[in-house]
Amino acid sequence: MSKYLETKIEFLKGVGPAKAKLLNEELGIFTIHDLLLHFPFRYEDRSTFHRISQLRFAEGNVQIKGIITNVSVIGATKKQRLTAILNDQTGEIELVWFKGVNWMKSKIKTGVAYLVYGKTSEFNGKYNISHPEIEPITTQNQNGTNQLLPVYSVTEKLKRKYLDSKAIARLTLEVVRKQDFHIEESIDSWLLQKLGLITYQAAIISIHLPNDQAKLNSSLQRLKFEELFFIQLRMFKEKKIREQKYQGIQFAKTHLVNKFYEEILPFNLTEAQKEVIKEIYADLHSGYQMNRLLQGDVGSGKTVTAFICALIAISSGYQAAIMAPTEILAIQHAQGLETFCKKLNITIGLITGSTGKAKRRDLLQKLITGELHILVGTHALIENDVQFENLGFVVIDEQHRFGVAQRARLWQKNKNAFPHVLVMTATPIPRTLAMTLYGDLEVSTINELPKGRKPIQTTHLNDNNRLKLFGFIQKQIDEGRQIYIVYPLIEESETLELKDLMDGYESISRSFPKVPLSIVHGKMKPKDKDYEMNRFVSGQTKIMVATTVIEVGVNVPNASVMVIENAERFGLSQLHQLRGRVGRGSDQSYCILMTGSKLSKEARERIKCMVDTTDGFKIAEKDLEIRGPGDLMGTQQSGLLDLKVADITTDQELLKTAREEARKIISEDPELSLPKHANILKSINQKKKSLLSWSSIS
Ligand code: ADP
Ligand code: MG
Repeated sequence: MSKYLETKIEFLKGVGPAKAKLLNEELGIFTIHDLLLHFPFRYEDRSTFHRISQLRFAEGNVQIKGIITNVSVIGATKKQRLTAILNDQTGEIELVWFKGVNWMKSKIKTGVAYLVYGKTSEFNGKYNISHPEIEPITTQNQNGTNQLLPVYSVTEKLKRKYLDSKAIARLTLEVVRKQDFHIEESIDSWLLQKLGLITYQAAIISIHLPNDQAKLNSSLQRLKFEELFFIQLRMFKEKKIREQKYQGIQFAKTHLVNKFYEEILPFNLTEAQKEVIKEIYADLHSGYQMNRLLQGDVGSGKTVTAFICALIAISSGYQAAIMAPTEILAIQHAQGLETFCKKLNITIGLITGSTGKAKRRDLLQKLITGELHILVGTHALIENDVQFENLGFVVIDEQHRFGVAQRARLWQKNKNAFPHVLVMTATPIPRTLAMTLYGDLEVSTINELPKGRKPIQTTHLNDNNRLKLFGFIQKQIDEGRQIYIVYPLIEESETLELKDLMDGYESISRSFPKVPLSIVHGKMKPKDKDYEMNRFVSGQTKIMVATTVIEVGVNVPNASVMVIENAERFGLSQLHQLRGRVGRGSDQSYCILMTGSKLSKEARERIKCMVDTTDGFKIAEKDLEIRGPGDLMGTQQSGLLDLKVADITTDQELLKTAREEARKIISEDPELSLPKHANILKSINQKKKSLLSWSSIS
């Protein structure tokens, strides 16, 4: 990287130490190089003008040329606003300012021609533009700027210090116009030529300063490829390393599986479960190390499937680990499987953040000697002092909650050979996303529910219908069923969350004075959570009032009603997960979505989707449609999905190309030692230094 690019941002004209500090903190911009990598997120077309007579409400941002005919200050001192009338001979439109009234007033003169840019909105049946950009017409701007104007994302804090999008644009343009730098090329020229891509340097310049749409497109194409290609390259490289360095452990015996299947398993497996077990069994014999993703809708029976596969490992004298995202879920897995383990004469242990010291020491001791066959746990499992005698099989439940790095840490738990890994998720992942995130995983799917399950009936109720809801709850309790009532988790305010929950709890205890209740929320001590949860699981309490801590994986077959309060605040996949807590037994189950009467369009769409279907794959697609892919996996994955320019829903073709090229390169030259891969190698080495997610490649 050239010296100039490493120059600290504060040395740019007009920045200085205070502004530089803000740019560091708010946008992670430290150097000129960083500034160049802060791409615009959209562009404004300033090449055309709108006529006032033809403005439509929904038109968004418009550019108008006209003469100011009237300027006036309206309203009492504290609520003053400034209005100005702009006339372009086809009509008039009002411009309004609520802030900086005096300053604006001194700037705008009647009878002068201005260029105005802003968003129209409707007020009292007329259009107006509030806080438009406005500047006098000059010879330079009178015909528009004939350019796509870059718009940069900034934070409120930056705006307050006058570092708005325009200021960033000014800084960036100054650098870009000079072109006094050399950005190292990350991709070798033969590949650029083959794919018709422009150089990295050219792409970076025209993303900030696109002369026209065509230039912008080729810049975007190159930068998108850059992102997708290196992700894919990393995945194939990791896969290669595993294949080369580590032979898969081969499990030859299955006596525990046979015994479990013939004597212990209390139901018949579904065809889909059997199919998946066969696939995994084949992997465990192949001599390759397995990395498989098991997708199956909530309630499809992934746990027992994974357990049977773990028994394949244990039959051959290896140990198994099961990692769950929450303590409640880990406890439940351990307790649920313990009955099976006892009958099989094998041992199972549980490790979480709240496992006591003595207990922990005992567990770790039994683990290293091999006395313990299965260890279930939370993140506590991947801590360094958790050492196995010979770990052969790892299950990661609800994978979408964990990052890729955590998976990698579990691989390291066996020094001689990587254990086989099965990751499970009930959040079906659209194919393109799976390819990007889990390019190195094989995928199995359980696509049927156990027989006899009745589809859950989902109803949407208005808050006014609470009496009806309570009547229904009472009836279900009289029939011996149990009920969940869930409140949303409000991240910005834990106190608010607790208040909602506590108010709800009180109102329910008042309405059901004779019914024993449980309450669980994130602020409780794990021990108390556990206690409450157990009372519900064992049927002592009939209603469980909780926040979303019970979202994932909890299994109480006798619970048949899921009431979700403020359902409009939940995302689709969360609603689906929550609903999946019922419908696990043979009784008819119900999900009741409670909302206020005013709903946003998106909230209404989500609720409708939930009422219309119970198919997790359909829901995932709808979710992607409503939210876009960025949000889909939650923040845990953000390191990987941190795509600045590429969009995996719309850039599928490019993703395929990137994947294909990456695959070819790694299979031809795994070490990237050929001269024709020199740029790629150099670029990977640089990324390794700066990105944690690359560091697993050694
Ligand atoms: P998930 O796939 O959501 O993790 P679970 O593994 O928790 O689902 O299984 C849900 C419930 O279905 C459990 O009570 C489990 O014992 C039961 N179950 C699993 N497989 C079958 C089957 N083949 N027949 C009947 N019940 C099953
Ligand atoms: Mg589960």
